[in-house]
Amino acid sequence: MKNTLSIVVSVYNEEQALPLFYETIKPVLSGLDWDYELLFVNDGSRDGSLHILQQLAASDRKTKLVSFSRNFGHEAAMIAGIDHAEGDAIVCMDADLQHPPECLPKIVEKLDEGYGIISMVRTQNASAGMVKNITSAAFYQLINMLSDMKFEANASDFFAISRQAAEVLKKNYREKVRFLRGYVQNIGFKRTTISYEANNRIAGESKYSIRKLFAFSMNTIMCFSNLPLKLGIYAGMLAAMMGVAMMVYTLFTRQGAPSGYATIVILNCFMFAVLFLIVGIIGEYIAILFSELKDRPIYIVEKTENVTDQNLRSKF
Ligand code: UDP
Ligand code: MG
Repeated sequence: MKNTLSIVVSVYNEEQALPLFYETIKPVLSGLDWDYELLFVNDGSRDGSLHILQQLAASDRKTKLVSFSRNFGHEAAMIAGIDHAEGDAIVCMDADLQHPPECLPKIVEKLDEGYGIISMVRTQNASAGMVKNITSAAFYQLINMLSDMKFEANASDFFAISRQAAEVLKKNYREKVRFLRGYVQNIGFKRTTISYEANNRIAGESKYSIRKLFAFSMNTIMCFSNLPLKLGIYAGMLAAMMGVAMMVYTLFTRQGAPSGYATIVILNCFMFAVLFLIVGIIGEYIAILFSELKDRPIYIVEKTENVTDQNLRSKF
């Protein structure tokens, strides 16, 4: 029997892009050596995307749909796709054709060679703009410096994983504050990369603002590194050394009482700044702990089409 490839596509307000995406990917999928399923995850779109997807699912049995009750974010959509996909391998991609479907035959080739994780690395991101490219490069430098794990710069949300790797993500990586791409690169298995050229978005606009990306980067650093938590120790050591220096200085240059006002003010301001910074960092980690502790769902499914009910299946 042929293997099945699951294509997971996250969709958020993509009514303009969807028809063209479907037209483009369909012939590529039919030409593959593998069988396929095309699983769209509608991440609470407020435009006509859901309607388009329901029509596609009604006319094509291989097109499946999982639809959220509201917007949960791109990562949640990919996770839901991985949860509901039934294929022997899963490819995650965007609906805006920035991830070219022409790469699929190459991916299948690598899967046949036995690779478990295939990261698609973009050689150039035409649409992202300079600010996004520079911040993204800086982000990867920082995270690689801070974390024991290694992150590929330019890795995208375009990747393929084997069934075995998918099961690991499904069972063991259910963190609420997370970085899916980071997990994919760090769970082991036989890995390879394929480079591709990111196209311009075919229609609509990017849903990631710089602000969202900043929040995302902060969370990622905290999920993969404990180093910021240890800043307190370094700051404490620095303060202790400065204290000793000040003590020595004061002992040897003992003068009349009123002098040294500027020193006191500067030291006060500086020490408080360091203290609040560290309290703030600890607060951020507590916020992450809090959301893990609450254990709210990563996503809530409202409707599905052509998807075998996973819960039902596990009952039998
Ligand atoms: N997306 C999503 N939920 C969101 C934001 C985006 O499912 O909250 C989808 C979007 O429809 C697209 C993919 O994630 O298929 C990537 O989003 P986008 O193209 O806006 O990001 P960019 O390519 O600019 O990084
Ligand atoms: Mg895009």
